[in-house]
Amino acid sequence: MFDAPPDLAELDPDELEQALARLGAAPFHGRQIYRWVYRRGLERFDGMTDLSRPLRETLGRTLSFSTPRIAAREHSGDGTQKFVFGLADGRSVESVFIPDTPGMTFCVSTQVGCAMRCGFCLTGKMGLARHLTAGEIAGQVRVLARELHLQHRRFNIVLMGMGEPLHNYEATMKALRMLAAPSGLALTPRRVTLSTVGLVAGLERLAGEPWIPNLAVSLHATTDEARHALIPTSRTLRLADLVTACRRFPLKHRGRITFEYVLLDGVNDTAADAARLGGLLRGLRAKVNLIPLNAAPGIPFARPSDRQVDRFARSLAARGMTVSVRKSRGRDIRAACGQLILEGGPRRSHAQQAAALLDG
Ligand code: SAH
Repeated sequence: MFDAPPDLAELDPDELEQALARLGAAPFHGRQIYRWVYRRGLERFDGMTDLSRPLRETLGRTLSFSTPRIAAREHSGDGTQKFVFGLADGRSVESVFIPDTPGMTFCVSTQVGCAMRCGFCLTGKMGLARHLTAGEIAGQVRVLARELHLQHRRFNIVLMGMGEPLHNYEATMKALRMLAAPSGLALTPRRVTLSTVGLVAGLERLAGEPWIPNLAVSLHATTDEARHALIPTSRTLRLADLVTACRRFPLKHRGRITFEYVLLDGVNDTAADAARLGGLLRGLRAKVNLIPLNAAPGIPFARPSDRQVDRFARSLAARGMTVSVRKSRGRDIRAACGQLILEGGPRRSHAQQAAALLDG
């Protein structure tokens, strides 16, 4: 068996320099290549005109270069766009562009499906098909930036698409390293938000990284019992331990942790929940982002009324918490939180979805 040639899309700046060194080429070519790939959106070596022809030919012979392919692109009435990306093995993931948040935001996936099985999330219903590679995670951003002509503008990234980023830790952090390269898109940590269901070991590891994105923690409940019912994979975790890990998490000057809280009618939106939430987060530099449920067939919960959402938000604010209510975006194209799912969508049975996944 021959080894597959290394894939340029999977190389972080250091690895690219090492690959160049093995070819006898100077390390600074790595920066040129990163510029072409990340800032100009090139997908082949041919067009890299500041590299000598022999070097381009050598690179073309010795490296492969894969880029997620846009399989579908849908425009929502509210300006949101959903991209379905086809991957090299035939599987697909979805990414969402949200134009005015007030900045520009890309919502990116880290896995095909998700293993966390949150009871209110359609992606969770699919289960995990596989992790994305670093190149596939960064590749979504690379293609979005090019397609939306944002390579030279500022944009934000939220790791809130399909998947649990801390369950795919290495690839996620490597993708961020690739996107942060100064010769590429030069993404800064303050423009990135990693959203996690709260895997404590992952949080502790993240706390020790040199490059730490903003943190959002999906809390969703105020008692262990309620949380375990909503997020079955959290059963071995106590809320108290999660909150302790959050208290230890290093925050930048004026930084805060966002706590996401999906509001489910009659389930976690009571006055007692508001009081407990206040207690849990007391003394933490936190803001609470309420997400009224995006309902869908097959999801056994309902979205509370606007009045109930408002009441819950006000009772948190009255306890001194900073609260926002997430506006649902792109619901008409199933691009909203918890609605990203592969071919077929909510009307298909799980078996059909699983079959679609396996068929790729
Ligand atoms: N695995 C990460 C990213 C998930 S998506 C995490 O758990 O944080 C981002 C947010 O959307 C999470 O807070 C998730 O719980 C929430 N969400 C999932 N399904 C939803 C739905 N149907 N309606 C509203 N929010 C949902």
